[in-house]
Amino acid sequence: MRALIAGNWKMNGRRADAGRLAAPLGAAAAGLACDLLLCPPATLLAAVAAVLSGTAAAVGGQDCHAAPDGAHTGDLSAAMLRDAGATWVILGHSERRAEHGESDAVVRAKAVAAQAAGLAPIVCVGETEAERLAGQHLAVVRRQLAGSLPDGFAGVVAYEPVWAIGTGRTPSTADVAEMHQSIRGIVGAGVRILYGGSVKPGNAAELLAVPEVGGALVGGASLQADDFLAIARAAPAG
Ligand code: PEP
Repeated sequence: MRALIAGNWKMNGRRADAGRLAAPLGAAAAGLACDLLLCPPATLLAAVAAVLSGTAAAVGGQDCHAAPDGAHTGDLSAAMLRDAGATWVILGHSERRAEHGESDAVVRAKAVAAQAAGLAPIVCVGETEAERLAGQHLAVVRRQLAGSLPDGFAGVVAYEPVWAIGTGRTPSTADVAEMHQSIRGIVGAGVRILYGGSVKPGNAAELLAVPEVGGALVGGASLQADDFLAIARAAPAG
């Protein structure tokens, strides 16, 4: 399976960034040994999709509502993301879980909606530092997966330890291997399992070489085209 390197721009980017960031990545995508995905804020989805049109890079949203349409002020449905050019959507990111109180059941409903609309979901899971220190990390992620993944899940799982996101800290490769092995036992073959949390050009090769790591979900480093490309180039050929 080819690795997937996905960039999560979070709440960053203006119209000028669609071309500045996405154009060099789109141009390089066909020559990479991995799949490339950019997840800009919703305001830039259509613009980034236009820049990447005809390239090997894909576009994704950062969240969607579980309903197809209706009275949900400020929300976006999976079909709307699809209409704007997205083929992927990140769901259950720890920032959504923490800042918007998203439960596993909510994430699961969104994943069902995404798949029904033709979007491939990337479902995020990961323990807090307190949970890891208490030795509960495997159980926490097992519980999140049981609650968040719909039956017949055909998307991607991203393991993102909450304490590693945006902190410059990463788990040891042995800890990543332990977690990814555990997740593999739950999701079965065929589901790519990404690692996310402070992936940078300097640590990407080591993290991407860990058994059962099928790519990376990248936050901060995805905001620099050179850094994001360096991470993508570190992905082993699948
Ligand atoms: C993320 O938020 O998905 C993430 C991995 O962020 P960062 O790479 O900045 O730690």
